[in-house]
Amino acid sequence: MKPVAYGLNTDHWKNWMDQQGQPSWRADQVMNWLFQKRITDFKEMTNLPRDLRLRLADSFTLDPLTPLEVQTSRDGTVKFLFGLRDGHAIETVIMRHRYGNSVCVTTQVGCRIGCTFCASTLGGLKRNLEAGEIVAQVVAAQRFLDPKGERVRTVVVMGSGEPFENYEETMRFIRVINDPGGLRIGQRHITVSTSGVVPCIRKFAEEGLQVGLAVSLHAPNNELRSKLMPINRRYPLPELMDACRYYLELTGRRITFEYALIGGRNDGEEHAHELGQLLSGMKCLVNLIPVNFVPERNLQRTPREQILRFQRILQSYRVNTTIRREHGSDIDAACGQLRAKRIGVL
Ligand code: SF4
Repeated sequence: MKPVAYGLNTDHWKNWMDQQGQPSWRADQVMNWLFQKRITDFKEMTNLPRDLRLRLADSFTLDPLTPLEVQTSRDGTVKFLFGLRDGHAIETVIMRHRYGNSVCVTTQVGCRIGCTFCASTLGGLKRNLEAGEIVAQVVAAQRFLDPKGERVRTVVVMGSGEPFENYEETMRFIRVINDPGGLRIGQRHITVSTSGVVPCIRKFAEEGLQVGLAVSLHAPNNELRSKLMPINRRYPLPELMDACRYYLELTGRRITFEYALIGGRNDGEEHAHELGQLLSGMKCLVNLIPVNFVPERNLQRTPREQILRFQRILQSYRVNTTIRREHGSDIDAACGQLRAKRIGVL
């Protein structure tokens, strides 16, 4: 398969142009066509010599994603199911916030982490996405928004897959969408979410980026976390918290801890107290996520009043807490749900 043209930033294009005996400013032209004008065929790059356009078309692809299904929720959430060139399918979501549009991208086809509450992991990991396939999701979302005159403002790497198990391509993805000649998504407008791959949290801290980090915590103690997230057996909670403290020390940036409230499993008052003690004094934000009801996975929702009580307990430990607003509750918006239905594992 040809590499995806969206996987290159300005520097990569400069190298490529150099190899073709072309001046380096051609790189800026290509970036402009790809990311500002968002053309869909190399033929449209009319200020490039014809033979260069042909060489580009021979060397790269511009359409790694085929839309298979688009669901739009009453609240404006848009969920895409894209087909890949090898027949796999992935999901991408546009969420509408007061501050603008956010796109949630997928980094792997499936996932091998095995969190018990997640549909993306049903069927296991198929393969990693290349950076260009991840960037193409943002380009597709921007194309969807173009007729409305709207922009992608923030990007969250929180779709299917564990981005730190596809670390190099994820870093490349960040550098491409952040490129001033490309989509120009500010680093502070990008967040990467991990289930807790400890060595990569440390590596990520050392990248010198201004990108946000979210850690899926989902349990306040080691025993319960191992039950909900098998990765905790590989990287136990104390090691994870050490890596988070290392990140905070090095970057000075606040960490977001994701906590999916699963009825009857991790949503009791005792869990809230334990979580408050664990995070007290840390520069962090806890994002409480009421899980979507998934009967096939025996997931129950936590009642609203109980969520608010959970939040109040955390606040009593001076832990900043938000409750995630639901997006797309009338469509298959839970991570991996649409794809899982398509491939017949849900
Ligand atoms: S929550 Fe994320 S890391 Fe866990 S199984 Fe789902 S996609 Fe993988």
